[in-house]
Amino acid sequence: MTRVAVLGSTNMDLVAYVDRAPERGQTVTGREFRTIPGGKGANQAVAAARAGGDVLMIGAVGDDEYGVRMRESLEHSCVDTDLLHTAEGPSGTAHIVVDAQGSNAIVVVPGANGTVTSLGPGEIAAIAEADLLLLQLELPLSAVIEGARAGHAQGVRTLLTPSPVRKLPAELLDHVDLLIPNEHEAAELSGYEEPHAAAEILLSQVPAVLITLGAKGCLYAARGSRTIHFPAPEVIAVDTTGAGDTFVGTLAVALGEGRPVPQAIAWASAAAALCVQKPGASVSMPYRSEIDAA
Ligand code: ADP
Repeated sequence: MTRVAVLGSTNMDLVAYVDRAPERGQTVTGREFRTIPGGKGANQAVAAARAGGDVLMIGAVGDDEYGVRMRESLEHSCVDTDLLHTAEGPSGTAHIVVDAQGSNAIVVVPGANGTVTSLGPGEIAAIAEADLLLLQLELPLSAVIEGARAGHAQGVRTLLTPSPVRKLPAELLDHVDLLIPNEHEAAELSGYEEPHAAAEILLSQVPAVLITLGAKGCLYAARGSRTIHFPAPEVIAVDTTGAGDTFVGTLAVALGEGRPVPQAIAWASAAAALCVQKPGASVSMPYRSEIDAA
C-alpha cells in the first residue's frame, strides 16, 4: 500500500445555495444550507484513502462540534487521524455561496489550521516514513516549508498544490518534486496565461509541473522530457468542487504504486471525472473499484 502523509487543512464548508449571489451591502434569501467537511488537505487525504492509499493526516481541528465531525469524517474514509491535533478554539471554516450557475465565492477563516506553525518530532518522523507527502497552502507557510524540507531530506516524493495561490519562496520550492497548480494558479505563479509557457517558467523552479486545466485535462512537464497534454474524459459535470483534490490524492496513490506518470495521470483523470459528475466535494470522491471500472 502506498503510504501518503498529508500535511494540510481541515475546514468545515458552510455552504449557502442561492439563485443569485448578493452584491456588496445586499441581502438575499438562499435556497438551502449545508455543512460539509472539507479543506484542501482533508479532501486530498480522503481521495487518496478511497483510491487505496494508507493515509495519515497531519494538522489541527478546533475543540468544537465541527472538529469532532471532521475527524469522524476522515476516519470514516479510513484516514489515520492520530496526528490531527485538537487545538483550543474554533475549527477552520469555509463560508461558501454557490449560485444557480454553480459559480461560488468563498471566505476561508483558518481557525485551528492557523495554530499549525511548526512540526513536532512525531510529525517529522511520520513524514519520513511516508512514500509521498501532499502539501497545499492552507496551513501557515512555516509548517509547509518545514514539512517539505523534512520529506525531501528523507527522499519522500513531495507534491505541492499551490492553493490558495501566493508567491512561493525558494526555501519551499527547493524541496518540491512535483508542483500541481490549476491553470489560474499557474498563470499567477509564472506570469503567463498560456499553460505551455507557464510550465516552462515553473520548470526553472521545480523539477516537474502538472497544470490541471479543468474539462480540458492537464499538462505535464518535466525537466529534460517532452511536455505532454492529457485530455480529460468527456463527462457531464454537475459540481466541480473537489476535482483538483481528487486528482491529486488519486495521483499520489498511483505514483506510490510505481505506475509510470502517464498511467498515473490517466487514473487520476478518471477519478476526477467521476467526482465532477456528483454534487459535493469529499462525498463525491470515488473508491478504487469505481476508478478501475471507469
Ligand atoms: P481545481 O478543482 O483545483 O480548480 P481543475 O478544475 O483544473 O482543478 O480540475 C482538476 C482535474 O479534474 C482536471 O485536470 C480534470 O482531470 C478533472 N476535471 C475538472 N473538471 C472536469 C470536467 N468538467 N470534466 C472532466 N474532468 C474534469
